[in-house]
Amino acid sequence: MNSALPISRRELIASALALPLLAESLAHPLKIVVAGGHPGDPECGCAGTIARYTALGHNVVLLYLNRGEGFCGGASLSRCADIRTAEAEKACQVLKARALFGGQYDGRAIVDPPHYDDFARVLAAESPDLVFTHWPIDRHRDHRAVSMLTLDAWLKAGKRFALYYYEVAEDTMMFSPGDYVDISLVESRRRAACYAHASQQPDKWYPKQVEITRFRGGESGLQQAEAFVRHPESKIGLLP
Ligand SMILES: [Zn+2]
Repeated sequence: MNSALPISRRELIASALALPLLAESLAHPLKIVVAGGHPGDPECGCAGTIARYTALGHNVVLLYLNRGEGFCGGASLSRCADIRTAEAEKACQVLKARALFGGQYDGRAIVDPPHYDDFARVLAAESPDLVFTHWPIDRHRDHRAVSMLTLDAWLKAGKRFALYYYEVAEDTMMFSPGDYVDISLVESRRRAACYAHASQQPDKWYPKQVEITRFRGGESGLQQAEAFVRHPESKIGLLP
C-alpha cells in the first residue's frame, strides 16, 4: 500500500466508480505477469494497465529479465544492479505490484535450452492467468530475448495463460495493436512508476511514451490508452 502517494481527484472518482467491480473481482483475483527486458520496461509499456488491475484487486508481478547491470546514469557499473533493483522495487510499490528478477545479465541475454527451461520454471511458479511481454520485433536484443522466452514458456504450458504483447517507446517496431486499455485516469500513477527509474533519465523518454499513449487513445476514442496485441492462438484475457 502507498497511503503517502498523492491521489488526484479524478483518480479518487475513478476508484469510487471501480468499487462494485473491485468487490466482484476480489472473489476471483487474477494473477498477471508483465515480463520485460530491463527494470522500467514493463512500466514503460503497461504501467497504466497494471495500475488499473491492482486497483481492482488483482495480483500483478513485474518480471524483469535482468537487473539493469549495463547502465545507471553516472554511477559506476558495479553499482547498477543495486541501484536499478531499488528503482524497480519503488516502481512496483507505486503500482502495488511485486518485482521478480529472471537472473540474466543486462545486454547479454541468452536464449538457449537451459535458459528456456529456467524462464519457464519462473513463470510456472507464478501460475499466471495472463502474461504480457515485449512485442518480438524490437531494436533491443534483451527485449527480443524475453519475448522468445515467454512464447516458449507459453507453448510449454499448453497455452494455459492468455498471452499479450506490449510496446515500448523507440524500440518496438511493426506494432499493430488490436486491444486497448483506457489509462486516462491513472496517468499520475503511471508517471510516478516510470520516474521511479531516476537513473534512466525519464525526462528523456517519458514524453515519448505519453505521445504513444495519446496516439493509441486517438485510435480507440480515448484520451490516453495502452495498446496490445493478443497472440491469435491465446485465449482472450480479461483486460481492465
Ligand atoms: Zn529495455
